[in-house]
Amino acid sequence: MNPSSPAALALPHLAGLHAYAPGMQPAEPGWVKLNTNECPYPPSPRVAEALLREIGSDGALLRLYPNPPSMPLRRIIARLHGLGEEHVCVGNGSDDVLNLLVRCFCGPEAAAGFARPSYSLYPVLVAVQNGRSAALDFDRSMSLPHEAIAAAQPRILFLTSPNAPTGVGFANAELERVLGACGGVLVVDEAYAPFADENAASLVARHPRLVVTRSLSKAYALAGLRVGYALAHPEVIGLLDRVRDSYNVNRLSQAAAAAALEDGDYYSGVIARIKATRDRCWREWSERRGWFTYRSAANFLLTEPRNARGLSGPAVARAACDFLADRRILVRHFPGHPLTESFLRVSVGTDGEMAALDRALDAWLETGGS
Ligand code: PMP
Repeated sequence: MNPSSPAALALPHLAGLHAYAPGMQPAEPGWVKLNTNECPYPPSPRVAEALLREIGSDGALLRLYPNPPSMPLRRIIARLHGLGEEHVCVGNGSDDVLNLLVRCFCGPEAAAGFARPSYSLYPVLVAVQNGRSAALDFDRSMSLPHEAIAAAQPRILFLTSPNAPTGVGFANAELERVLGACGGVLVVDEAYAPFADENAASLVARHPRLVVTRSLSKAYALAGLRVGYALAHPEVIGLLDRVRDSYNVNRLSQAAAAAALEDGDYYSGVIARIKATRDRCWREWSERRGWFTYRSAANFLLTEPRNARGLSGPAVARAACDFLADRRILVRHFPGHPLTESFLRVSVGTDGEMAALDRALDAWLETGGS
């Protein structure tokens, strides 16, 4: 060990660790951002009002720590889902909640399972914890790999529904089948559930090993404030409270999230608009362009572009992604998995942004598409 290298003092399992790679966040305006599944519409006007109230005229409230367990927010969330507040824990984004779950239920002797392809943060959190991983592979149908799940018997299993980056949602009956076959904690990551027809929140009251996580970054347009939450059995919530930072959600984020969650009418409109754009784009790409596109229950679409000669593949997807980026349109290419490498994931933007994307794709095809 080199005694002058502080990195040499770190725990050995961190040496080969690759950090999670978030999508690009350009510093300057003027981009069509369809790469990180943010909401294309602003949050409820009540959010800005709540933030100004919380800051006050002289910022005096900012001297004070926030409510440590975010209790007023827990109560609002509990009411929204018809649960008691003892079933709710709030986090600094749902990533915080996912991290807390890994800390509680995963380690060198306790494997964490996750399906692939899915949200690539899970294996990173497991690696940070020096935990054992059980990767369970989908096939192109993207239906749940029930046999692999039952064989792996992980201590904790992360399933994303609707899944990312495919947008494919899993029925509650399927998730209950997983709970029956697997003796560990099942985390259903519902970051995109507000865009789906079904969700598992109503199952939490009767399944003590089920955890549902939600995000305010997507449907609620609050990605910049970082708020997410878990719905779970009170014993699980008690564990999360033992390991979380005591002030894990800041004062402004708590106030903004409360105002957003209490303006359901505003968000029903936003969600309906995004779903209409999503379904129109799905028809446009799969029927007019003839590109295979997964039917999505989320606010993004995974599509397999074809060039002017009708060819698809990883190089074609990369070429389309680069062509769009040169025109300041950002979409996401995931070359790290055979089931995603020929596809692009496109967040659903406004109708105007999607029209700009379609014009750019037409221009790409006119160049031959390579
Ligand atoms: N789960 C999934 C499946 C996601 O795609 C994301 C967003 N990258 C998150 C959780 C994290 O959301 P948040 O912004 O609430 O941390």
